[in-house]
Amino acid sequence: MSTDMVVSTRGLTKQYGKLLALNGCDLDLPAGRVVALVGPNGAGKTTLLRLIAGLLHPTSGTVSVLGRDAATHTVAALSQVGFVAQEHPLYKRFKVRELLRLGREMNPGWDQAYAERRLAGLDIGLERRAGQLSGGQQAQVALVLALAKRPRLLVLDEPLASLDPLARREFLRSLMTAVADDAITVLFSSHVVSELERVCDYLVLIDEGRIRLADDLDTLLAGHRLLVGPRNGH
Ligand code: ATP
Repeated sequence: MSTDMVVSTRGLTKQYGKLLALNGCDLDLPAGRVVALVGPNGAGKTTLLRLIAGLLHPTSGTVSVLGRDAATHTVAALSQVGFVAQEHPLYKRFKVRELLRLGREMNPGWDQAYAERRLAGLDIGLERRAGQLSGGQQAQVALVLALAKRPRLLVLDEPLASLDPLARREFLRSLMTAVADDAITVLFSSHVVSELERVCDYLVLIDEGRIRLADDLDTLLAGHRLLVGPRNGH
């Protein structure tokens, strides 16, 4: 395993009963990149992301994150990985201020000033209840809660799935601001391929529990142009 890789998996396999969800995945993700994980329904995206975030144990194989075995993450190491689940479970009866308090109590590296600054920039008041926010605002709060841990790796499961196009653009803008300001590595899964070229620079394709392709987006697009030729017959 190369040490400048944020994530390295070898032979990573996950079975749910008899169902083989991940089948011997080898993957290396370089630091400082914005990585999109794409693949059809049931391909194994959520399973792979949860294994990387230390939320699931592999059936076999290894997953190393920031140089540590994800299966034996300590609390301190876990706090270096932010995870935003597909159904971000914001406790809807809680005020935003209370969600921040919970985050502060649960995370050693919590940065309250950072969280409040980001929320003010989004015009989301701390006294609002999570359940009263729009879907786009709830996604933004979930992102801020993950970023306030000041992680080195941010993992997001289908962050765009339930958002309308405007909320999607605003969410991606917040994500890209965080990438630029905080120098983190981002790994997110998506079905929405149209906006990926604008935000990600590394692409991983997974299908039937196997990594089919993983490379720089520029390299992939250059190869694609060679294969299909320039547009408009020029
Ligand atoms: P989607 O895009 O639909 O969310 P995905 O690519 O994220 O799919 P996973 O959710 O990782 O795929 O699921 C991979 C396979 O594992 C699927 O066949 C799914 O039904 C199965 N699976 C996922 N979680 C469990 C579980 N807890 N128990 C049993 N089977 C599961």
